[in-house]
Amino acid sequence: MTGSMHTELQFERQTMTDIQSYWRNYIDGEWADGGAGRIDVINPGTGTKLAEHALADEADVNRAVQAAKRVHQSGALSDMRPIERGRLVQAMGRYLLDNIAEIAQVLTLEQGKPLWEAEIEVKGAAAYFEYYGNQASTVEGRSIPLGSGYFDFTDNVPFGVSAQIIPWNYPVEMTARSLSAALATGNTIVIKTPELTPLTNAWFAHAAEAVGLPKGAVNILCGWGHQAGAALSGHPDVNQIVFTGSVATGVAIATAAAQNVVPCVLELGGKSAAIVHDDADLEAFENDIRWGIYFNAGQVCSAMSRVIVHESRHDELVERAVNIARSLSVGPGIERAEAGATMGSMVSESQRDRAAGMVGDAETAGAIVAAGGRKMNIPGAFLEPTVLANVTPDMTIAQEEVFGPVLSVLKFRDDAEALEIANGTQYGLVGGVFTRDLDRATRAARQVRAGQVFVNEWFAGGIETPFGGIGKSGYGREKGREALWNYVQTKNVAIKLG
Ligand code: NAD
Repeated sequence: MTGSMHTELQFERQTMTDIQSYWRNYIDGEWADGGAGRIDVINPGTGTKLAEHALADEADVNRAVQAAKRVHQSGALSDMRPIERGRLVQAMGRYLLDNIAEIAQVLTLEQGKPLWEAEIEVKGAAAYFEYYGNQASTVEGRSIPLGSGYFDFTDNVPFGVSAQIIPWNYPVEMTARSLSAALATGNTIVIKTPELTPLTNAWFAHAAEAVGLPKGAVNILCGWGHQAGAALSGHPDVNQIVFTGSVATGVAIATAAAQNVVPCVLELGGKSAAIVHDDADLEAFENDIRWGIYFNAGQVCSAMSRVIVHESRHDELVERAVNIARSLSVGPGIERAEAGATMGSMVSESQRDRAAGMVGDAETAGAIVAAGGRKMNIPGAFLEPTVLANVTPDMTIAQEEVFGPVLSVLKFRDDAEALEIANGTQYGLVGGVFTRDLDRATRAARQVRAGQVFVNEWFAGGIETPFGGIGKSGYGREKGREALWNYVQTKNVAIKLG
């Protein structure tokens, strides 16, 4: 997700169009049925079937990997002048923007987020292509002095076949994030789309065709994680893996990568905390609550799922959070067009039930449900925007990722305790510090154990700023120039002069 979302809310509304009933995989430039049959794609905003998608089996995965390997070995992308490759990547972003109306509608229908959020996501995806397209020619090597008898230089060469396993919370933006950087650096790609939200990925295939990428440079398939996902991450001809999703699956993927001795980037979610000091501007913080935990119904790896507030401001903060939660109009994403004021469904009823179960367990453990907390009595995967007060650090709700619209509020007495609570989980993706005191903010920012720390605005930063985890939140960095280094390896050339 881009950091500048707060200001990107102006779009024209579009009318609904019918969507096709059966969607295929895209392998070696052809639309293909899947060896594992089909999967029903459900609209979580209504609970009804939306379409069917082909399911890839191991043989389909192998064909996709072989196509990507062939294109890599041909040099069609890796030998291209980077500035030209960058232009192709940028053109893919423009293709997405040209088709934003359709993509956003399908995204809303398969994922549940309000239409205006889907439009933000497509714009964010396009921005990745713009950014990494621009960066293509910045991946430079260096010369290393070895005395007059030698000339030595380094080259940064693409890995080859990049396997990218995508989650369902931001299927368009997460695909764009890794696809654009991998292409810009000259790799070829096989994408495994999430089973719950496979439809929108079709536009990346259309974009690849529209800009004239060679057949087989980008392959996109949907399949079960344990089948197609495992076949892809364990494939001996895959040279690099990018994964975003759960810790358990990340461990399985890293294990598969280790067997083939290939690197992987793991982005595995978090339990991120905002530390709110006694001098913080709580009126401004309302905006951080609204975006930090209710955007995408809380299904954000970097969600502000915990607020650790100074005891003197606790009651005021809870009251403000309750007001925000109650102010949101919740319903099917396709009808929720009013930017900022609405929240859609969660991605599936099982994800909703899991989150609701965690809220129930927290209440049993002593948390107070200050707002929401219940499944909504309408068809679809809806959970009320929820605020939990009286949460203590030892509760499961304060330790485990909910991945839903559930804010946990905890109290602290002094700065040391705030840090101890913030750093007291297995995760370390992002963190936040809210105070008017620069020294305190700077100290805390250094001490919060997280890959990215926001001061006085949750989700500050953007696609230009490196993002990734510490601890069980994973390793490797996405976004920013740092991400380019995931997709190249350094080669040294040492020349003995005659
Ligand atoms: P998951 O990790 O199981 O799935 C993510 C992707 O991995 C999907 O494309 C899936 O098909 C694939 N996959 C699953 N098993 C695989 C395997 N053995 N080998 C290769 N690929 C495999 O996540 P989920 O079950 O969809 O969601 C469970 C939880 O994960 C959520 O509740 C949430 O806590 C977390 N999650 C985090 C993020 C994030 O952005 N960090 C995104 C989605 C889910």
